[in-house]
Amino acid sequence: MKLGFDIDDTLIRLREHAFRLYNKKLGRQVDIAKLHALACIPIHEAFGLNAEEGKRMWDELREAIYFSDCPPYPDAVEALNELDRLGHEIYYITARGQGHCERTLTWLTAAGFPVRSGRFYCGMGDAEKVHVIRELALDYYFDDKPAVIDTLAELAIKVYVRDQPYNRHSDAPRIHSWGELLRLLNISPLK
Ligand SMILES: [Mg+2]
Repeated sequence: MKLGFDIDDTLIRLREHAFRLYNKKLGRQVDIAKLHALACIPIHEAFGLNAEEGKRMWDELREAIYFSDCPPYPDAVEALNELDRLGHEIYYITARGQGHCERTLTWLTAAGFPVRSGRFYCGMGDAEKVHVIRELALDYYFDDKPAVIDTLAELAIKVYVRDQPYNRHSDAPRIHSWGELLRLLNISPLK
């Protein structure tokens, strides 16, 4: 099987990681519950910042947000390694900017995700992901972002939304935790 995964807030807790870094940078202790209550992807509102201030903060901290110790979601690394061991093809498709692609690949590998040569796609816009996904003829694709999910409706592949507070309005099939993945795919783990 060929499976595609978005990275940020699908496989790793990027917004939560960014939220901690914002708190540190601003010398604040905003409760994480404020993040979980946001129904949008940008996190600046939780700190009372406007969009422009929020963008400035994200740009300032982007290196640390992307390349420090952002935790993967529970079972994400394990489930993908199990699929890789079973011979399934795992593709990563991220809209991170071109200038961050090489280090993102290195980071992903260091975090323990199975990354095989030629199966890392990076630097396209959200709206361009559909072309990569169609070209690869994936069987499954997982993403958190409604703007991406909405572009995939016409494809004959199984698209799942990784549950997040800001995508609950999507009626695409949904996965809540990576511990469910093998069962969802009807795959028995290797003994
Ligand atoms: Mg994402």
